[in-house]
Amino acid sequence: MNSNIKINNYFDDLLASKESRLGLGVFIGMIVFHIGALMAFQTGVSKVAILIFTLSYLSKGLGITMGFHRYFAHRSFKTSRFFQFFLGVLGTGAVQGGVLWWASHHRGHHKHSDQEDDIHSPITHSFFHSHLGWMWTKECFSRAKYRLNDFSVFPEIKFLNKYYVVVLALQAGFFYGLGELLNNYAPSLNTNGNQLLVWGFFVATVWTWHITFSINSVCHIFGKPKYKSNDHSKNNWPMAFLALGEGWHNNHHKYGWSARNGFLWYELDPTYYVLKLLEALGIVWDLKTPTQKQLESDLL
Ligand SMILES: [Zn+2]
Ligand SMILES: [Zn+2]
Repeated sequence: MNSNIKINNYFDDLLASKESRLGLGVFIGMIVFHIGALMAFQTGVSKVAILIFTLSYLSKGLGITMGFHRYFAHRSFKTSRFFQFFLGVLGTGAVQGGVLWWASHHRGHHKHSDQEDDIHSPITHSFFHSHLGWMWTKECFSRAKYRLNDFSVFPEIKFLNKYYVVVLALQAGFFYGLGELLNNYAPSLNTNGNQLLVWGFFVATVWTWHITFSINSVCHIFGKPKYKSNDHSKNNWPMAFLALGEGWHNNHHKYGWSARNGFLWYELDPTYYVLKLLEALGIVWDLKTPTQKQLESDLL
């Protein structure tokens, strides 16, 4: 056991260190976002709000799966410096921390999967801790010494990682402004700034959070393994559907370097379909995928 890890003591030296203050900040931030999402009962809903929620969820979801996860954490395809930055911005919009911080922790998860040093394993820690409690601990910040020298050489990525709050403020302002514009110029749509802020920003963020967090918690407990992967990762089709292909988590732990997580026609993997489309357009290239022979010989 690594003696530096006291994961069950949330806020253990409350305010005594920068890292514990950051953990407390995440805890308070999560409460604020959940309250923001509950404000939907106050603002009501409209067709525009549902549309904006859906687009925001897909944008945040793809930003995480295609950007933070398959590109920054796993380097499973290549792209231009411009599109790399765009992927960073898209993922940052999901309100899951800075790009280097996120991808660094994820590399740690694969390196120590379901062992004591896996900071969000539901096997060595608890379900609750793996779902969200780990982000309230000081270890979650003190251990984020980046395993990402490959991306921290880009000044624009370092800037994005440090000032990701700016992206969030712009996003919130965009949804509020759009709602106010529609309220003024198309009042028959029955929407306004507060309603689109709540649905596009708060509800979509909290919804995407729990889907992403469930990959860490649910997909290491519930479902079926298909390949031997030295951890407890499972394939879980409802999570694959909600998380745009990430629920084929046992496939992913076996082939972490792959741009593709669903290997059969019924293993839906929308993130991969988007990547294939971007490949056809020449925006991404060198998508890494296992061969058919490899897939067959590795089956459990
Ligand atoms: Zn995992
Ligand atoms: Zn991964």
